[in-house]
Amino acid sequence: MTQFLLPPLMLYAACGLALSLAVHILSFFGIQVGGKNLFFGLHIGIFPLWIPVVLISQRMIGSSSRKDFWKVALAGCPPWMKYMTYGFFIYAFINFAIFFILTMVHPPAKGGAEPSVEVLHGFSGHWMAFYSAGLAILTTAYYRGLSNLQPRCRYGHEIGWNDKFCPKCGTAIDSVLERH
Ligand SMILES: [Zn+2]
Repeated sequence: MTQFLLPPLMLYAACGLALSLAVHILSFFGIQVGGKNLFFGLHIGIFPLWIPVVLISQRMIGSSSRKDFWKVALAGCPPWMKYMTYGFFIYAFINFAIFFILTMVHPPAKGGAEPSVEVLHGFSGHWMAFYSAGLAILTTAYYRGLSNLQPRCRYGHEIGWNDKFCPKCGTAIDSVLERH
């Protein structure tokens, strides 16, 4: 994978996010847009985006601890993108809980060929989170450069994100997260 593939992928993620947001907002007003094709397009569309995103994140995290995943993956994109992604994830959980309770109380009518407004509303909450996270991780990779995804000491040895000293040569590391 090369650097020039990142901007089209970022654009793809941004379009997916904008469309999901539009579907979601319109569903509040009971407006159902796009029908089956847009529904499956946005749903399946997450996968071609997340294949490169997963590969890039694996290289970013390197030998660092998995619990630092989001800190590492979003250290380098603009702060608003980071907070937008956290916001969409929190929102997706709340939205899904509400969706779950509502469909228990009011099961959606079966047999319709088109996804109902409730289904569009429930799913689009998750799409927004995934497109937003994909966009933020790709943007981080774009700013850092694909050859520079993993942190290194000043002598070029690979280090973990929380290392205070290079495990190979012992040189002191000033905060890696702040440097990126
Ligand atoms: Zn070193």
